[in-house]
Amino acid sequence: MFKALLIEKDENGQRVGMSELDEEQLPEGDVTVRIACSTLNYKDALAITGKGPVVRRFPMVPGIDFAGVVEHSGNPAFRPGDKVVLNGWGVGETHWGGLAELARVKADWLIPLEPAFTFAQAMSIGTAGYTAMLCVMALERHGVTPESGEVLVTGAAGGVGSVAVAVLAKLGYEVAAVTGRPEEADYLGKLGAKRILSRSGFDAPGKPLGREQWAGAVDVAGGHVLANVCASMKYRGVVAACGLAGGMAFPATVAPFILRGVTLAGIDSVMCPAGERREAWRRLGRDLDPALLDAMTKPIAMADAIDVSEQLIAGKVRGRVIVPINDL
Ligand code: NDP
Repeated sequence: MFKALLIEKDENGQRVGMSELDEEQLPEGDVTVRIACSTLNYKDALAITGKGPVVRRFPMVPGIDFAGVVEHSGNPAFRPGDKVVLNGWGVGETHWGGLAELARVKADWLIPLEPAFTFAQAMSIGTAGYTAMLCVMALERHGVTPESGEVLVTGAAGGVGSVAVAVLAKLGYEVAAVTGRPEEADYLGKLGAKRILSRSGFDAPGKPLGREQWAGAVDVAGGHVLANVCASMKYRGVVAACGLAGGMAFPATVAPFILRGVTLAGIDSVMCPAGERREAWRRLGRDLDPALLDAMTKPIAMADAIDVSEQLIAGKVRGRVIVPINDL
């Protein structure tokens, strides 16, 4: 038997609670992992609260991330005792996920734990931090360098934003952080932000083109925020768009793209090819100060994930939340 958070749904709606499950109930997969630590991402909070159509099969164990130790493996790529990490691939959406003591998954979905990190640090990063690194890599791929000019990070006090600020600052970029929480200015300054800007300057309908300000941007918000960011990019600037914390819509014009050669780079972490994931994790081992991870992380118990999910969707959680599960 093992403990897990379980989301069930019937004609009366969705229920979430702690459950004791039988190992035999684990879904198909060739590797069984004893989970050391999981985390709570925005998508997990949508799943747990039922505020977004994340879960596609019920009952579901949520948790799009986990880090742990291989217990059984039917695949030569992994052996019992190997330390592994999983991010995405539909885990926690269509396949039982990481908010549990045990998981069974496909070997192809696992990557070895980056030696620079403990299980807890890997989960402090989680999908949010690995996505932040995918955004940074997209800026680089399109030619943005610290010499290109100031870079902007929206939703800066959230999970993706916090890691993006810390990584970009460590790489030598001058970072402007957009937040709806001015009280987090000190926190963002410690992560490396040079300027703090209020979200209120970004989240209302704006002009098709504004003053050219940013060489690069990481946007977690979508909606008017993304439209206004695109409108204020410098000539040939690059925006990495990964989120919808401010909305799914994109109420923009093509002006920034056809008049300023702005690039809008879409970022998806879930199905990102294995090579790029491993590169992102390797880069996190090199370009993210592990001491800053502690400053941005709060541990919670698995059962508390239900309450904390509400706070996360309300934009009240600072940085990252981890869920330590087994002491391995
Ligand atoms: P968090 O909840 O940790 O952070 C989101 C932040 O966005 C908040 O902390 C807040 O920051 C800001 N925010 C909240 N509400 C609004 C609003 N209405 N308008 C503008 N900004 C707002 O979530 P994550 O950082 O983990 O995820 C951010 C987004 O990225 C989510 O939409 C998530 O689904 C998406 N995502 C996408 C991935 C992908 O593969 N494409 C992977 C991971 C995440 P502040 O208070 O500083 O303004």
